Amino acid sequence: MQSSRRHFLKHATLGAVAACACCAGAGAALASGVHWTYEGEEGPEHWGDLQADFKSCKIGLEQTPLDLKGAVKATIGAPVATDYKVQPPKILNNGHTIQVNAAPGSSVTIEGESYDLLQFHFHHPSEHLLSGKPFELEVHFVNKSAAGNLAVLGVFVTLGEANPALETVFSAMPASEGEATGKAPIDPTALLPKGRGYFRYYGSLTTPPCSEGLVWTVFKEPITASKAQVEAFAKLFENNARPVQRQNHRYLLDVAG
Ligand SMILES: [Zn+2]
Repeated sequence: MQSSRRHFLKHATLGAVAACACCAGAGAALASGVHWTYEGEEGPEHWGDLQADFKSCKIGLEQTPLDLKGAVKATIGAPVATDYKVQPPKILNNGHTIQVNAAPGSSVTIEGESYDLLQFHFHHPSEHLLSGKPFELEVHFVNKSAAGNLAVLGVFVTLGEANPALETVFSAMPASEGEATGKAPIDPTALLPKGRGYFRYYGSLTTPPCSEGLVWTVFKEPITASKAQVEAFAKLFENNARPVQRQNHRYLLDVAG
């Protein structure tokens, strides 16, 4: 199964995604004037009708996010190996999320393929569910290989201790669209859990154009944030989570890590 999926990925067409992904796809949509939202007539149920190249949002069979349940236990040789460097504190509000664009030099290796970190951003509540339950937040690390394949790491955030790395982002995030500079550098590694067990499946961007062919890794162990940190983000983005999509024919793997 793995080898055939990898073969598929090597040939997946991701040209339309250009330099960014996930919520960065939103940037391109805004640039072309197409407005989309998380509710109402331009909400997730209608994304596929808003523009011709958003049709995957409607007819795609490998869409993200999923309710993570009934996963098949699997062993994959090498762990997901991140080498994320501390980032300059440039923090963007793109109208759909808070995003930190990564400087060159950070990467993750997944099943022998290296992907460069492009950016990371946040959703409230979580987009993936764990056996039907959402988390307070979800962090997405968007990575791209030299061949143009995309791999996203998802991290659940649950209520608990305040997270210092999250504070470097949330203390400086702009309340409206635009970029701000924070006081301290941002360490992406501090936003990853210590436990490296994960769920793996093949999915899509969770924002228009909902392009498919992405390798998804969602870590099982959540990181924590304080109630005040969650509320600070929720004040800006009451709901920026796409509803869960059908799994269809896909395998969902549960990997010990
Ligand atoms: Zn995302």
